[in-house]
Amino acid sequence: MIKFIKDVFRESIVTLLSTAISTSLTVFGVKYFEKTYEINIDSKYVISVIVIIVILAISNLCRLIHKRKIDNIQEPDQMFFSTIIPDGVLTIKNNLEMYKINVQINNNRHHNQFENIEPAYSVIDVDGPFCPECELDLKEKRTFFGLYKHYCSREHVTFKSKYSSNSMREHKKTDYNKELRDNGIKNLSD
Ligand SMILES: [Zn+2]
Repeated sequence: MIKFIKDVFRESIVTLLSTAISTSLTVFGVKYFEKTYEINIDSKYVISVIVIIVILAISNLCRLIHKRKIDNIQEPDQMFFSTIIPDGVLTIKNNLEMYKINVQINNNRHHNQFENIEPAYSVIDVDGPFCPECELDLKEKRTFFGLYKHYCSREHVTFKSKYSSNSMREHKKTDYNKELRDNGIKNLSD
């Protein structure tokens, strides 16, 4: 949150300075033009240009703040990749996206000796998102306002999200770890 406030503060200062510089240059340019060509430019035109500069600067600031807000809710990139070989892979899909959930069975293996203890499952990692039609990796682009656009390069699906592919994988990992902990593999296997 502090980083977000710092970023917004820095961008507000940059916007304020660039607006002040653009406005001063406009006024200076008009004065120079009037003096050089000995004409009088109606001040309402000058004011209109300044208003346009201010509107553009404010809308750009809003765009940057929105983008920072979205950056701020992303999950950090994974520094290490798991080398554990999964015991099973669950394929989860809806109309827009598909994931492969790599599951480890019984991460507490010594429990096997007790017959009455259910095997435990955990998610090692998640692959995806993939296209549910052709199973290609969905590509990712930032939109003008900072959202993430996910799309299949064969044009089967396109959708926008506040979250990057990495964040979506991390969220799926959390969701399915809980699902496996609560309900085991039975509800997920079909
Ligand atoms: Zn596709």
